[in-house]
Formats: sequence, structure tokens, C-alpha cells
Amino acid sequence: MAIGIFGGTFDPVHIGHLRTALELREHLGLDAMHLMPCGDPGHRTAPLTSAAHRFAMVELAVAGEKNLVADDREVRRSGQTWTVDTLSQWRAEAGTELPLCLCIGMDSLVHLNTWKRWRELIGLAHIVVAARPGWVVPTTGEVADWIADRLVVDKAVLLKAPAGHLYIDEMTLLPVAATELRNALHSGHSIRYLTPDAVVDYIQYHHLYQ
Ligand code: ATP
Repeated sequence: MAIGIFGGTFDPVHIGHLRTALELREHLGLDAMHLMPCGDPGHRTAPLTSAAHRFAMVELAVAGEKNLVADDREVRRSGQTWTVDTLSQWRAEAGTELPLCLCIGMDSLVHLNTWKRWRELIGLAHIVVAARPGWVVPTTGEVADWIADRLVVDKAVLLKAPAGHLYIDEMTLLPVAATELRNALHSGHSIRYLTPDAVVDYIQYHHLYQ
């Protein structure tokens, strides 16, 4: 068994998130990929939409894709949620041996040093980075130095240890961001094909992002 954890605001979830989650699960040979919307994030501005709505949209988006799981552990928690606390909870539940992969986009890796107790994350899970259009691996600064000691090129090692490695995966690049979906909706434009139809319908029904 090996599990992937893909966190984010998902405000709203879109095809960039969904293809990334699906491809990472397949490429790495993970048993399941959990898409985990944050509650009240500590390291960035609050999402526009309630955690309950953001979670509901993720749930609709992954319905029918059995290895993708909508995970509500952060939205259930009140107050600010920090990834390091969530991973500690995962590790306590999963035990010491199960490989866990915290999956993030390249933009998140570049800013990883702004996350609470960021150096501890890799002791709790591997960190897997998805390429994202417009972002490259940092080559200078404290994140770059930290990467150099942990980067592996053989993804097979991720399944042989519970945590501790950093892996960068090449995948289908989809230059989509939730900001663009919010802006389009705000201007009255369609977001069809940027997210599953069930999410489009949910947004319309609840009059979100207007
Ligand atoms: P926003 O535009 O509101 O900043 P976003 O589209 O970047 O949102 P987030 O919920 O902030 O979405 O992202 C969650 C995770 O998904 C992050 O690790 C981010 O790097 C990654 N991600 C988001 N969009 C893509 C994409 N198109 N391709 C690959 N990774 C992505």
C-alpha cells in the first residue's frame, strides 16, 4: 500500500488538479490519491468559497474514479489548518511503515519555505512535485539547497521507504488555474471543459463566484 495526498484550496477544483492527481497516482503506482481541500489555510489568503462548497465540488469531480478520494480531514478541522499537522495525523493513523506521498505543484515547491515547519514535512511523507506551466525548479535560495540533498530520480524508491525523498514528475501540462475560473465566472463567461460538468452545474445551482 502507498497513498498520495494532494492538498489545495480547490477554489474551485479544475482539470489541472484532476489530471495531476490521476497521472501522479498512475506514474507512482499509488493505491489511492486523496484530494484534500484545506479548511482555513495559514499561509495564503482565505479562499473565496466555504470549505463545505469546495469539498462538495471535489467530491463531485472524483465521483466514479475509484482511486481518487475526496478527503475531508482538513475541512472538518476548525481554525487554521497546517499541512505539517495534517501529515502528522496521517502518519499517526497510517503507522510508521506506509509510504505517504505529499503531492504539490511546482509553484508550491518554490514557496515551500513559507509553510509552517516546512523542513519537517519530508520526515512525515515523501514530497512529489508536479511540473506546472510557468514554474521551474528553484536553483538558488534555501529551498534549492534543501532540494539538492533529497531529490531522487528513480521513483521506485518512493514505494520502498515511508518518507524522506523528493521526486519531480513530468506530466501533461495544463495551464489552468482556479483564479482564471473565478475570473471567468465573475465576468459571466463559461468555464465548461475546464472542470467536470457536475462541478459547473454545482456552481450554477449555488450561485458561486458571482
Ligand atoms: P489559485 O489560482 O486560486 O491560486 P490553483 O489553481 O493554483 O488556485 P490550488 O488549489 O491553489 O489551485 O492548488 C492546489 C495544488 O494544485 C497546488 O499544489 C498547485 O501547485 C497544484 N496545481 C494547481 N493547478 C495546477 C495545474 N494546472 N497543474 C499542476 N498543478 C496544479
